[in-house]
Amino acid sequence: MPELFPLIEKLERQRSLTEAEYQSLMEGRTEAAAAELRARAVRVRKAVYGNTVFTRGLVEISSWCKNDCLYCGIRRSNQKAQRYRLSPEDILACCREGWALGFRTFVLQGGEDPWFTDERLCPLLRQIKAEFPDCAVTLSLGERSRESYQRLYDAGADRYLLRHETADQAHYEYLHPASLSWAHRMDCLRALKEIGYQVGCGFMVGSPGQTARELAKDLKFIEEFRPAMCGIGPFIPHKDTPFGDKAAGSVELSCYLLSILRLIQPNLLLPATTALGTLDPLGREKGIQAGANVVMPNLSPVSVRKKYMLYDNKICTGEESAQCRGCLSARMAGIGYELAVDRGDPKKFESQGGVCGAAPYCAASLSSCHFEGACD
Ligand code: SF4
Repeated sequence: MPELFPLIEKLERQRSLTEAEYQSLMEGRTEAAAAELRARAVRVRKAVYGNTVFTRGLVEISSWCKNDCLYCGIRRSNQKAQRYRLSPEDILACCREGWALGFRTFVLQGGEDPWFTDERLCPLLRQIKAEFPDCAVTLSLGERSRESYQRLYDAGADRYLLRHETADQAHYEYLHPASLSWAHRMDCLRALKEIGYQVGCGFMVGSPGQTARELAKDLKFIEEFRPAMCGIGPFIPHKDTPFGDKAAGSVELSCYLLSILRLIQPNLLLPATTALGTLDPLGREKGIQAGANVVMPNLSPVSVRKKYMLYDNKICTGEESAQCRGCLSARMAGIGYELAVDRGDPKKFESQGGVCGAAPYCAASLSSCHFEGACD
């Protein structure tokens, strides 16, 4: 039996490994281990979410950013970046189009643009929630104060996506300017969770200087932090950044990690990211077949899409929103999955007489369960 298989078996059973064990999983990666992880991850994913794939309609509201992350195409120092900002009316129009197309989650994402104050965002959130009461709103607007997160939550935001990028402080400092702090990023994530958001975090795969050790820390962090969502995707360089000549991460390693994450947390919302589709025409299909269960088609106006260029050669920048949804729907159907018209909340498991509701794939009784029945 290949030497990683006992570790994989333990991971599925306990949903937990030590950091050293995660590192072994990364360092010993083989195609046989990847296939074993994929098979288990897909089984777990189907037990929790069936064949449905959740969609999030992505609205890229601003390409302005006050920060200077070394890997990012819309970083402040990139003089060649094209800047735009959508008005609240533009954003509402995107949501209206998205709702008609079957989206029940809108993700408002942008750089850290000071124009988007709470005073501007809160009325917009109230308007979206009033017009689309059956929809969830995710914000992905970077680091803000706890008070701001609270106001946005009170105004109706349901979820907040803030990638931590790496759980290793030294690596974080290598990827970011001194003005950004790893500790503060982690504080933001904790504050968001305490306020009551469904919190998404996430990390780059194959970022410059990253090793198996850093990835093992990311896996342990996800295991302990237990986010509702985790967005991971391969690092892709942008030519006008300090990392413009670095090698991209790999689709295979990203998919390997998706499978591990599915086994760590069976109900985790895991997107098959656009970055996967950028590196490989079948990247998003491969992500779903490795255990992911979310796709995020673009709802931004076509006129601005090429301006939100976080990395080179980003796909889906020329298509209308309906085309994006249609394309992804066909891609998912092609591999036996279907897009849901649903908010796509993380599934909770109900206790069933001493055996938790995750029983289709988990044989642990509540008394022996690693999470004491609280794996949701
Ligand atoms: S990664 Fe985010 S915070 Fe950093 S420069 Fe890009 S948009 Fe700004």
